[in-house]
Amino acid sequence: MKKFKVLLISLISALAVFTLAGCAQGGSSKADSKKEDEGKLKIVATNSILADMAEQVGKDKVSIHSIVPRGTDPHEFEPLPEDIAKATDADIIFYNGLNLETGGDGWFMKLMKTSKKEEGKDYFVTSKDVKPMYLTSKGQESEQDPHAWLSLANGIIYVNNIKDVLVEKDPENKEFYEKNAKEYTNELQALHDKNVERYKDIPEDKNLLVTSEGAFKYYSEAYGTKAAYIWEINTESQGTPEQMSQIIDEIKETKVPALFVEQSVDPRSMESVSRETKIPIFDTIFTDSLAKEGETGDTYITMMTWNLDKIHEGLTK
Ligand SMILES: [Zn+2]
Repeated sequence: MKKFKVLLISLISALAVFTLAGCAQGGSSKADSKKEDEGKLKIVATNSILADMAEQVGKDKVSIHSIVPRGTDPHEFEPLPEDIAKATDADIIFYNGLNLETGGDGWFMKLMKTSKKEEGKDYFVTSKDVKPMYLTSKGQESEQDPHAWLSLANGIIYVNNIKDVLVEKDPENKEFYEKNAKEYTNELQALHDKNVERYKDIPEDKNLLVTSEGAFKYYSEAYGTKAAYIWEINTESQGTPEQMSQIIDEIKETKVPALFVEQSVDPRSMESVSRETKIPIFDTIFTDSLAKEGETGDTYITMMTWNLDKIHEGLTK
């Protein structure tokens, strides 16, 4: 009898929802996800890496929207109407800074202006307290290099900055955020320490990490690899003849056994470097975006694990 009653009630409410939704497809699932997000901190992150870090700390107490889609370059981007709506509605917005979304055409600052948001109140820089490194190709060390997260030591700084903002905005759950951040940063620290040790066995004459974009300065400093690149930053997307001959000369002075190409860049320039030098492209690695959900490298920790494993494997061949 009780079972029947429950069934009847759910049948009636299902009908009611159906009628209210006016048969519009997806209408009821949208209502469900809204309900699910009730009482959660609404977070917007500029890219998938920052979104994942925020999710590891906030877990079920936050709902997160990442602006730049996975596999897409975050240096230059045109936010969609949905991004403007989400940013306007957000409790917290996280961005990388250091000349990433704020470099090139500066899309992030435009978005913050459009959605009437204030720095330090609504939007927060996750790279705060990271020691910046600088772009050098223009012969002057004026612009900051954005790719700080490619050192796990910096990743830990990012996570703690994110945690501090969550605690400030939602002090009731302070202990929850602190516990999650502690567990997560312990894991990142262990992976970092393991690789600092492991990378010491790369032979001197093979120790050159060759990528399309010069995204690995922070990585190089952390793990002791030298780095060479075709173009310095992804506001460019193809090597000029001068850049191509420069990298080929640099490679020929070494016995480097492997080249790498990044997941979010056009591989054609690296393919032609590979043809010229007869050194194979060993694998695709991650720089500015996580892998698609469900694929290897779809979280910050698995992306870094992949990079650290593949680069070490390639350079010790
Ligand atoms: Zn980049």
